[in-house]
Amino acid sequence: MVYKRPLVYFDNAATTQKPQIVIDAISEYYENYNSNIHRGVHYLSQQATDQFEQARKTIQHYINAKHSHEIIFTKGTTESINLVAQTFGMSFLNPGDEVLISEMEHHANIVPWKMICDLKRATLKVIPMNEVGELEFDQIERLITSKTKILAITHTSNVLGTINPIKKIIQIAHSKGVPVLVDGAQAVSHSKVDVQELDADFYAFSGHKMYAPMGIGVLYGKEEWLNKLPPYQGGGEMIGKVTFEEITYNELPFKFEAGTPNVEGVLGLEKAIQYIQSIGIEKIANYEQGLLNYLMDRMKEIPNIHYYGLSKEKVAVLSFNVGDIHPYDLGVILDQMGIAVRTGHHCAQPIMDKFNIPGTIRVSLALYNTKAEIDLFMDALKKAITMLE
Ligand code: PMP
Repeated sequence: MVYKRPLVYFDNAATTQKPQIVIDAISEYYENYNSNIHRGVHYLSQQATDQFEQARKTIQHYINAKHSHEIIFTKGTTESINLVAQTFGMSFLNPGDEVLISEMEHHANIVPWKMICDLKRATLKVIPMNEVGELEFDQIERLITSKTKILAITHTSNVLGTINPIKKIIQIAHSKGVPVLVDGAQAVSHSKVDVQELDADFYAFSGHKMYAPMGIGVLYGKEEWLNKLPPYQGGGEMIGKVTFEEITYNELPFKFEAGTPNVEGVLGLEKAIQYIQSIGIEKIANYEQGLLNYLMDRMKEIPNIHYYGLSKEKVAVLSFNVGDIHPYDLGVILDQMGIAVRTGHHCAQPIMDKFNIPGTIRVSLALYNTKAEIDLFMDALKKAITMLE
């Protein structure tokens, strides 16, 4: 309940609500086997370590990675991308080289690359998109040159909902010898992701957008790439031997996991994945598509609406503005009516610049949303528009 009204939570692209089994898994860990991992010979430490490493395997199977040591735990997508941008950039970028991203990236897949490009005097190049929010596919081949060192691209846009043809994009990049990092933050909870089938070199995602706790995320990397990269952060766990003169580093995945990890987050993420698996990801995808179709149908009742992102392939994320109404004003009134939507630039200012707008209203749906909630949203939206016009 919010403001004594039933809450309609349509801000799932920002973060999802957590199922009880995820919350229970965290309590259970602290109640029964809270301990640091990989360090103690004592019972609790061994139990926590076993559960932690079991969770890594669950995640490995969920995205079909070849090895469990290709699963690196991070704080989230942002940290996963920073890890690759920094380590890859320090090792492989030279002045004059190019990094390719797209116009529909979240800031998390722009800023880390811009930072390392500036440091290494490399150039950031951008694949443009069209008016409906689809990448200009034929530009990709043209923009990959002999200087391109890596392509970093989103699987699914958090603003437009666009699902990019990521497998084809990876094929094009690989045919030119360019590795690909995929930002999967908005993809993993909506459709099957198979990193081997995609042939992704790196795949980044966050737990909290897939029913898991905050502060836990994953970087998948192909073994050969992870072995080629230097460590990211230094500290405990990521070392082999330390003297003041020389340091050797641990093997994968520990080389990239300095310090005490987020054990509760990892255990919660495992439970969230099991929750998704118990329903079935295809079933979730179909259900969410049904909700999106229903929403789009009902939105026809609203005149003067402008959509941002009407790609043929899209997840249940709908960004729009109504007439000249500022998205913030609409968002505030909807909130008072118990409807949680996102307003603003959604951490993707270049998309706002492209459409020359300050922001949008974004509805993003998840597996627990219903058509009845969409009806409540439609009533509230109509009332809010009448108040503002
Ligand atoms: N990429 C995309 C496409 C996202 O939607 C988000 C979160 N909004 C991120 C990256 C960053 O994720 P996090 O804040 O969990 O690191």
